[in-house]
Amino acid sequence: MSAYAVGHKVPDSDSICSAIALSYLKTTLGEDVKPARLGELSPETLFILDKFGFEQPELKLSFADTDGIYVVDHSDRIQGPDDIDNTTILGIIDHHKLGDITSNAPLECWIRPVGCTNTIIKMMYDFHNVEIPKNIAGAMMCAILSDTVIFKSPTCTTADIKCVEALAEIAGIDDPQGLGMEMFKVKSAVEGTPIRDLVLRDFKDFDMHGNLVGIGQLEVIDLAIFDDIKAELAADIAALKAEGNRHSVMLLLTDIMKEGSEVLVVSDNDDLTEKAYGKATTDGKVWLDGVLSRKKQVVPPLQESLA
Ligand code: MG
Ligand code: MG
Ligand code: MG
Repeated sequence: MSAYAVGHKVPDSDSICSAIALSYLKTTLGEDVKPARLGELSPETLFILDKFGFEQPELKLSFADTDGIYVVDHSDRIQGPDDIDNTTILGIIDHHKLGDITSNAPLECWIRPVGCTNTIIKMMYDFHNVEIPKNIAGAMMCAILSDTVIFKSPTCTTADIKCVEALAEIAGIDDPQGLGMEMFKVKSAVEGTPIRDLVLRDFKDFDMHGNLVGIGQLEVIDLAIFDDIKAELAADIAALKAEGNRHSVMLLLTDIMKEGSEVLVVSDNDDLTEKAYGKATTDGKVWLDGVLSRKKQVVPPLQESLA
């Protein structure tokens, strides 16, 4: 048996790269830890794995029969493995609001208000004085550039920027921000992708005071990319809401150059965005200027408004 490092459902680059980086660190320290993933990978993550020569982590949905898991890049039960309540939690390494994952035994916790889990994992490497291999440094660096939207996100801290500089040096990358833009171009390619796949590409459910709220996000370099498919995206989040028991479904169409998000909304509350963000939804849409971060700018006011 082994232990695993596993990120959230609908894995993003941070969840995957932190599972890989943490597994290597733990294995070097003498534990048997393997990276796992809870779902299919996005084009951006595939680009990173390809660039630095990694295989996809094992697709694994059940962990009750393992030696336990290190939970990375989340701490909400709803975002983790379905059998998490029957799984031993060895540790949590995360940069989100503290969720409701708990443990039966003492565990290791590294939780910091920084822009990316990989920034925390770099701190762990430094703490244990373990050298980071070149390819792992490259993947960690890309994850930080992704999560911080190339340092533009309000979640980005000095620690993240310093960490990217240090990792770029190890990985031998001269222009990390240029590589970041290349990555966001890959992320912006939506043509030919089924609408539902786009809606769910970076989708998270939240339990907000007993209301199930699903929030997806597509980060692109130009919102014009969505001109032809916006109506279909809006219809699909309405369909998604009708299929399940969600109180609200939102899709953030984030323009990383204009630095704001157009939000498509379907909700049981007509005044959802008015109450949470002070801006009413018109025709199921609202532009939120300066909003780039789901975790810092979208979730907290919504959670508060639903209390
Ligand atoms: Mg994530
Ligand atoms: Mg993250
Ligand atoms: Mg993100």
